[in-house]
Amino acid sequence: MADPHTVRREIRLNASCGRQIAEHLVSGLPYETCGVLRGKAAAGGMRIDAFAPIRNVAPDPLHRFVLDPAEWTRECLRGGGLIGLFHSHPSSPPVPSDEDLRQLPLFAGMLSAYLIGSPAKTGGEIELNGYMIEKGKNGLYHLIPADVTHG
Ligand SMILES: [Zn+2]
Repeated sequence: MADPHTVRREIRLNASCGRQIAEHLVSGLPYETCGVLRGKAAAGGMRIDAFAPIRNVAPDPLHRFVLDPAEWTRECLRGGGLIGLFHSHPSSPPVPSDEDLRQLPLFAGMLSAYLIGSPAKTGGEIELNGYMIEKGKNGLYHLIPADVTHG
């Protein structure tokens, strides 16, 4: 896992983007929701400027997500700073599942930020965890925990 001497990275979301992610997550309950993030690398991590929801077409959307291929392709063709992926865990903590890690190589080559959200246990806000997608020396991709900040 992460080298303990590595400085923790930061994924900074602008306010409207954070709000859109929360609204998309809540409006999709009880199903998993997903979408893409646009932004750019910034000192110490990344800055996320925009969020675009993508339909979850998984046959069992309670426990999985599959990006709608047409919408995913459209977002890819739009270009311009496609940098990360978001999805939600409606009924489990916002940490990568075994399935998430199995799917990671599908996106890992082109994306570098990975967000998972869950409904907050208390209050109206969501719980959001952020990870940097990094390639290890063994050629495998890893999710390195990052600090998610707003502003
Ligand atoms: Zn997941």
